[in-house]
Amino acid sequence: ATPTALMVGTGRGAQLGILIKGPEVLETTRRVDTIVLDKTGTVTTGRMTLGAVHTAAGTEEAELLRLAGGLEHASGHPVARAVASGAAERTEGALPAPAEFTDVPGLGVRGAVDGRQVLAGRARLLEDAGISLPQTLSDAMADAAAQGRTAVAVAWDGEARGVLEVADTVKESSAQAVAQLRALGLRPILLTGDNRAVADAVARAVGIEEVHAEVMPEDKVEVIRRLQAEGRSVAMAGDGVNDAAALAVADLGLSMGTGTDAAIEAGDLTLVRGDLKVATDAIRLSRRTLSTIR
Ligand code: ADP
Ligand code: MG
Repeated sequence: ATPTALMVGTGRGAQLGILIKGPEVLETTRRVDTIVLDKTGTVTTGRMTLGAVHTAAGTEEAELLRLAGGLEHASGHPVARAVASGAAERTEGALPAPAEFTDVPGLGVRGAVDGRQVLAGRARLLEDAGISLPQTLSDAMADAAAQGRTAVAVAWDGEARGVLEVADTVKESSAQAVAQLRALGLRPILLTGDNRAVADAVARAVGIEEVHAEVMPEDKVEVIRRLQAEGRSVAMAGDGVNDAAALAVADLGLSMGTGTDAAIEAGDLTLVRGDLKVATDAIRLSRRTLSTIR
């Protein structure tokens, strides 16, 4: 491949809304045969909104929203933003700022709000702290997940207090992008830290059969490595929230321009508008650019 031809490919990429880290990236792009897609913020918009709120017996909805909203306000996760802004709207008061805050990647958040020790996140976050969910709340979580909605369990002072449903929407272009990627010969795989039922619902909506769900951020890297060990050349598309390490390990990291700075740093190629269909343009472009050189 001559440097000039590669530079032409890079320039054309910019016109399409693709930022390419270096000319050598085109060569990797041409070779990928597998594409791992992170769910939240990549296949879905990641612009989530707060839906139904379920309280445990004896818990006030307003209190649940205030404490969970106050805590989540300190996190940048798409789920957290939905909880915080939904809670602020529904309680009409300022949310209390946490005196103490810990992000637990892939599971949720914990911290001290209004003198209470609050947890918000996956059921596992509560279970790990020795807190079990009453039947009504675990039923609410299962129902939400079956509908493709993410459920956030909330506990304080050692007891489960409620469940907040958060809805995300699949990007309009995702199903078409998956079909195009398949047509280009790539094997699509959905990867997410979210619940299995939510993951399956999203996969069905976009036509993906292979799903890895409930994968912790550090294990996302392992999923990529296993595929590479099988001899696959792996592209990974993500938004940088809990998937930056996987983006870096993949043969080709595709970062959503709508995601975090960490994504753009870890990726080889940035899809400026966060549209997965542009990934197929990038693959076509790289194949064309390099074939004209040969
Ligand atoms: P994904 O793989 O879909 O991009 P993440 O790995 O970032 O998702 O998170 C996995 C799951 O952990 C989320 O679907 C959500 O259920 C839970 N979670 C993560 N962060 C938070 C948070 N700040 N508040 C509540 N739940 C969270
Ligand atoms: Mg993500």
